[in-house]
Amino acid sequence: MDPTSPLSASLPRVGILGAGQLGRMLQEAAHRLSVPVVCLDTPADAPAKQLSLASANVANGSFRSADDIRKFVTEQNVDVLTVEIEHVDTHILDALLKERPNLRVYPAPSTIRTIQDKHAQKAHLRAHNVPVADFLSVATPADVLRAANDGGFGFPLMLKAKREAYDGRGNYVVKSAADVEGAFTALNPKRDAKALYVERWVPFVRELATMVVRDAQGHVVAYPVVETVHTRNICHVVVAPAQIDGMLAKKVQKVAEQCIASFDGAGIFGVEMFQLENGDIYINEIAPRPHNSGHYTIEACHTSQFENHLRVLAGLPIGSTDLKVPFACMLNVLGAPSSDLVDSLAACRTSLTVPGATVHLYGKAGCRADRKLGHITVVADTFPELQDKMGTLLKMDPTAAK
Ligand code: ATP
Ligand code: MG
Ligand code: MG
Repeated sequence: MDPTSPLSASLPRVGILGAGQLGRMLQEAAHRLSVPVVCLDTPADAPAKQLSLASANVANGSFRSADDIRKFVTEQNVDVLTVEIEHVDTHILDALLKERPNLRVYPAPSTIRTIQDKHAQKAHLRAHNVPVADFLSVATPADVLRAANDGGFGFPLMLKAKREAYDGRGNYVVKSAADVEGAFTALNPKRDAKALYVERWVPFVRELATMVVRDAQGHVVAYPVVETVHTRNICHVVVAPAQIDGMLAKKVQKVAEQCIASFDGAGIFGVEMFQLENGDIYINEIAPRPHNSGHYTIEACHTSQFENHLRVLAGLPIGSTDLKVPFACMLNVLGAPSSDLVDSLAACRTSLTVPGATVHLYGKAGCRADRKLGHITVVADTFPELQDKMGTLLKMDPTAAK
């Protein structure tokens, strides 16, 4: 980033905690707008660090360490601090805001704190009249049994870790009383009484998601509603727009906007939802950052989720969130069961011959089964054309084949 360019000189310097693929795609958008960006993460070859225009734009250190974050903000002259991962130390963010009157942190540390604890997040949403499935904190296996029997949760129910969850790794489907002990131990071997909660099983007909961008004045704007298809609890395919009734799509956008309006601070948010048979919508969870279900926006919307995040951080106007193509689909490129890179990238190679397909590879150092290595977005003028192109890619996709 050239700090002497007139546009970047007038824009704040953005610090990102984390340098994975989301930081990398934020940097791609930042380069175009000439917004100065610097990422903090430990690995020297982290995906976002590979994209920096100058070595001064990368910082080594942990986004989990208070000392490293303080040093990062000071040495890199950060004006606006943001996150590409919610599992950060929010208390240091509060302390920094007190120490530095000119620093901004988006989203607000209190917002990140609420969202990073799924139980606190659900309690917040319920308090703001946003529909969520019933939930209850549980300290012991006996509490889980009580919730299922006397509490009316029944079986199956979902036992979830409150913190540090991703790709379904903190979830356990408890099918009967016989599963309870094993589930508790699997998710919480140390038997921390505050670590878990139960959620009522949601018999959804499909999973929906939308990105919502919020500016510092509190205006919220939803992106189109998409359908997300998960494989082994990992987001695998995203279809935009979701093939649902237009009135329902409007309702989903309203619920998602209502959700994000209830939090403080600016930024982009991912909102994951369940659609029930009768058209009711429940919020599953929120991400206070760019989200996998919004990657399609790079090729398919007037303004990508990454650009709009940077825009609100820099005090620039929110760009149009509308689709600029009729249909789009995103396929995650996950590490193959063999952990072999050539197997894993088979769909990527095929996509090079599919018109309307764009490959994004994240430059990750190793290939493990189910690791997110990249994604492919396909755009099309008609839905049958989209299905045809996606069919070609899915035939080569080791995750779909499994
Ligand atoms: P992510 O990678 O999206 O952060 P996560 O680890 O936080 O995932 P969740 O989003 O809580 O996990 O759940 C993963 C998936 O499990 C959901 O997308 C959905 O398919 C299923 N699921 C979660 N909660 C429930 C529920 N209460 N009832 C039925 N299915 C559920
Ligand atoms: Mg999650
Ligand atoms: Mg999720």
